[in-house]
Amino acid sequence: MTAEVVSVGTELLLGDTVDTNAVALGRAFAAAGLSHFHRQTVGDNPKRLRVALDLAFSRSDLVVTIGGLGPTSDDITRELVCDSLGLEMVEDEEIVNHLKSLFRTRGRPWVETNARQAMRPAGSTVIANANGTAPGLVVESGGKMAILMPGPPSEFLPMLTDSVAPILARIGGGELIHSRVLRVVGRGESQLEQDLSDLMVSENPSLAPYAKTWEVHLRLTARANSVEEAKRMIAPLEALVRGRIGEHIYGADKEELEDVVLSQLRSRAETLAVAESCTGGGLGERLTRVAGASDVFQGGVISYANSAKVNVLGVLPEDIAEHGAVSERVACEMARGARDRLHADWGISITGVAGPDGGTLDKPVGTVWIGLAGQGEVAAIEHRFGGTRTTVRSRSQTAALTTLWRRLR
Ligand code: AMP
Ligand code: MG
Repeated sequence: MTAEVVSVGTELLLGDTVDTNAVALGRAFAAAGLSHFHRQTVGDNPKRLRVALDLAFSRSDLVVTIGGLGPTSDDITRELVCDSLGLEMVEDEEIVNHLKSLFRTRGRPWVETNARQAMRPAGSTVIANANGTAPGLVVESGGKMAILMPGPPSEFLPMLTDSVAPILARIGGGELIHSRVLRVVGRGESQLEQDLSDLMVSENPSLAPYAKTWEVHLRLTARANSVEEAKRMIAPLEALVRGRIGEHIYGADKEELEDVVLSQLRSRAETLAVAESCTGGGLGERLTRVAGASDVFQGGVISYANSAKVNVLGVLPEDIAEHGAVSERVACEMARGARDRLHADWGISITGVAGPDGGTLDKPVGTVWIGLAGQGEVAAIEHRFGGTRTTVRSRSQTAALTTLWRRLR
């Protein structure tokens, strides 16, 4: 079975919106074992959409459209799919009633154009949209299948997971592609290439590194008839990789460094506080992305100005005067201050020169001190990061989490 995506929306062509939905669909096709040879993007223009759909149906068994299902006159996907497949449009009374009651509960006035969203190809089935108004649609005709999905990712993604992925799995069959990702910190892509070069020539399962910000992801991929079979093929390769560089692997698949650090702390029944200067709260933001962080993460101080380091964290002004705000001494005092003032078991601090200005000969842009205060121990490590202000800030957060992860392991 071959599948094709047609993304509809002028904003996608203008570069205002990134086509993240098509990316998610590409993954879903691979997971379902569907061959995916073409993807089209087309603006909200009837003639050009018709050409795109005719081409898609001429060469693919399944065509999934994204967007253009809303109530306004530029939402034309339904009509054009009907035209291309030679189907009539019918009004679905059930959808009209559902939409009207939705508008009533939300206290929004009913405008007649909304009824456009209740039009569907004759013979189609409706996919309920729990997160928006336009339902998804599935239609089969002349040996072809079309699935029409809404554009907003908040509607598209749940519909993909809950309703469309099971359809894809059913029609896919055949061989599928399954991947496992091992997440590595503290070892660069080229070092990993050296460690693992003989394993990287393997084709099925295959092993490939992807450089991220201050981490590397190793993707282990197998092509097989089922997920179980793919997992069985990947397992021995994973064991070999772990045998060589296991100490640098902090997690797998969707696990982030902050997830791992929080569970390490949780299993020790210990708590954490942070003191951030150049990252401006970014570390706290990463930690609080994890639901349920509050039993471990006490809070943090954004001590950006020296006065905040002194007044809130208890850093000694004479230490700032003597060593500078970006120094081992101040990093240690910030970590200790966070730990003590927020009554946590551990305190982490970040103080550095994120740039583009403010660098000096002995403290160039990218100089960052990470402090760690635990029970009776306080220490700091210096980093020299390259890159822009954004990369320095993000690498600092990852480095801080890595320091604690290593210490707790
Ligand atoms: P539509 O369903 O065409 O009315 O699209 C509604 C909104 O969803 C658009 O304004 C975009 O912000 C977003 N959107 C549409 N298509 C995509 C896509 N393929 N990927 C990501 N976002 C999209
Ligand atoms: Mg649109």
